[in-house]
Formats: sequence, structure tokens, C-alpha cells
Amino acid sequence: MRIGIAGAGLLGRLLAFELARAGHQVEVFDPAPHAGARGAAGWTAAGMLSPAAELETADAQVFALGLRSLERWPGIVAALDDPVELHQRGSLLLAHRGDEGAARRVVDLLAAKAPPGHGPQALEASRLRSLEPAVHSGTQAWLLAGEGQIHPVQAMAALAAGATAHGARWHWGAPVAQAAPGCLHTDRDVHGFDWVFDVRGTGTRPAWPVRGVRGEIFWLHAPGVPLHRPLRLLHPRHRVYLVPRQGDLIVVGASEIESEDRSPVSLRSTVELLAAAHSLIPELAEARLVHSETNLRPALPDNLPRLEQAQGLTRINGLFRHGWLIAPALVEQALSRIGEAQAA
Ligand SMILES: Cc1cc2nc3c(=O)[nH]c(=O)nc-3n(C[C@H](O)[C@H](O)[C@H](O)COP(=O)(O)OP(=O)(O)OC[C@H]3O[C@@H](n4cnc5c(N)ncnc54)[C@H](O)[C@@H]3O)c2cc1C
Repeated sequence: MRIGIAGAGLLGRLLAFELARAGHQVEVFDPAPHAGARGAAGWTAAGMLSPAAELETADAQVFALGLRSLERWPGIVAALDDPVELHQRGSLLLAHRGDEGAARRVVDLLAAKAPPGHGPQALEASRLRSLEPAVHSGTQAWLLAGEGQIHPVQAMAALAAGATAHGARWHWGAPVAQAAPGCLHTDRDVHGFDWVFDVRGTGTRPAWPVRGVRGEIFWLHAPGVPLHRPLRLLHPRHRVYLVPRQGDLIVVGASEIESEDRSPVSLRSTVELLAAAHSLIPELAEARLVHSETNLRPALPDNLPRLEQAQGLTRINGLFRHGWLIAPALVEQALSRIGEAQAA
């Protein structure tokens, strides 16, 4: 089929790669000036693949999409030419002494919402020390055994390169004004296709009531500070996580602010997130703050993902804070529905 994709973010690149690899003729349109321009939220994400931890705010559907995506990611990454860091070593929920009340509420909620075998397991102090020796002693810990992480910057680049290698064509500097069944309207032309995907994130307005939720993130360079898996601090006031990344980096995130302001990180977020990170891993005192970034998570009013299909047009949006967690399963669902529609 001739496929048009509006949006070259996480979903657009994954769709382009999978569809081009399956032999379709793919064209992708995005306002970004080139493939490496980092406008999409997909670039900024920490890349946690956390179906159970996300149950604090998400529902059973997001959990199931997350489990399916965790199964799919290794195959997708293996099919790419460029290396992408991907691990499934579990993640830790952590709480400082004195914050047990707030922590207990989250741990009990996850235990109640997660299916058997997927809930938090309390860790003895000695087990925590052997898993993550850099974490402050005296911290209470729970393991979420099945969780993983991916390197979003590597994956965004590798997916685009992989799609290109399979013949996908990219139209940069080309915002789509309207996506309709079988056609995409840019300001200059109308492009006809057999099928169109609208994955423009916040750019899908006014067709869908998507809003952007501001998130701020920091990269620390911390050679010699061992960290093997994502950590989440269960804190009464802040939601803070630390994610190790190749190159001795630790990504610290993320604020969640109801604002579409994309200006640089605020002093308040910097102080609060980095102080919390330092409280968890005191050895971070000498880490260097090498990068900070702000972006907007595309969210629908219920903060849940939505996939809608009409003949010739599929829209996927509202991936909010779980895009890397759920995109492979959503793309799989979308492609199988098209297969069914074509067969009917
Ligand atoms: C700080 C932060 C941390 C995050 N951490 C995680 C995490 O740890 N785990 C996780 O699973 N998720 C995380 N996310 C969420 C994840 O990044 C998003 O859910 C995901 O990127 C959404 O994918 P998308 O393709 O829908 O949107 P995007 O990746 O934002 O892509 C949308 C694309 O549409 C393009 N576009 C806009 N307007 C138009 C137009 N008119 N025409 C054509 N194209 C257009 C944009 O340029 C962009 O390229 C995080 C997000 C942020 C901001």
C-alpha cells in the first residue's frame, strides 16, 4: 500500500519502520527541519518501560499494552541496524525514612491493581545493597521485577534510519494541516494515499482535544556511580526517577506540569528533582549536570491512549507519559486492524 504518516515522533517512526519493512511505500511528514531535530516528546523521554509502576495513574489497558510492548521491543531493536540500549532488569520503588505513609499508599495501590506476580516485592536491606550499592542506606525498597528501559535518543535515530533503509521517504519542514481518509493536506499540496496515519501528538488539534503536559528532565554525567536499573522515589511531594544510560549518564526526571510552556527548565524543578536524586544517591554530589530538556507529553482529557480507525485513516494519540511503554503494542493493534479491514 501507499502509506502517508503525519508526524515523525515516536509513533510515526515506529510505524514508518514497521510498514516500510513489511514492503509498503511509506512517506512521513513533519514540521521538524530534519530527522535529528528534537521537537518530538519521544526524544526527551526517560525511556522507562514500567507497566506496573505506571498503574499508579494508568489503567489495566495501559498495563496490558505495556506487557505486550515489553515482549515486542527486543525483536524491534534486533531488526534495527544501529544499536539501541534496551534492558529488562526490573525497577525499584524507594522511600526515605519518615515517608513511609506516602510510600505505603502507592505500594498498596500497585499491589491491588497489578495482576498476581507483577506487584511490588519488598526488599531486605542486604538485597537492596547487592542490587544497587549506591542507594542511600536506610532507604526502604520494593522491586518491580519485570520492568525495563530503552534509550529513546538512540531508538528515535535508529528507527528513522531503519525506515529509510527500507525505502521510507521523509518530508521535513512539512506540517500537515489536515489528515483525512486517504489524504494529507500540507500548506502547499494534497497528497493521496491508500492509508493515512495521524500521529501528530499535540499537533492533532483541533481534530482531537489533545493537550501538552510539560515535563522537565536532566542528564547527569556520573562516572563511577553504579546504577543498574531505574529508581523511583516515593516522596510525599515530588515524583522523581533516576534512569541509568550508556556513557555514565543518569537521567533524572520529571516534572509534570499542566502547561504548554516549552521554555527551559525552571529553578524550582531543578532544585527539587536534583535534591531528591542526591538524597537517594549521595555519591551524585560530584556528578556534572550536562543537559536539561523540556517537552510536552501529548495527553487526551482522560490521560489514556486512543486508537481510532476509519476506512483509510488511523489516528493514535494520548500516549501521555507512557509512549515508549505502549507504542509497539498500539502499532501492532493498528496494523492488524488494517489487515482485517483490507481482507473484509
Ligand atoms: C520529560 C518526559 C519524560 C518521559 N518519559 C517517558 C518514559 O520514561 N517512558 C515512556 O513510556 N514515555 C515517556 N514519556 C512520554 C513519551 O515521550 C510520549 O508518550 C511519546 O513521545 C508520544 O509519542 P507520539 O508519537 O504520540 O508524540 P511525539 O513523540 O511528541 O511526536 C509527535 C510528532 O508529531 C509532529 N507534529 C506536530 N504537529 C504536526 C503537524 N501539523 N504535521 C505533522 N507532524 C506534526 C511533531 O513534530 C512530532 O515529531 C516522556 C515524555 C516526556 C516529555
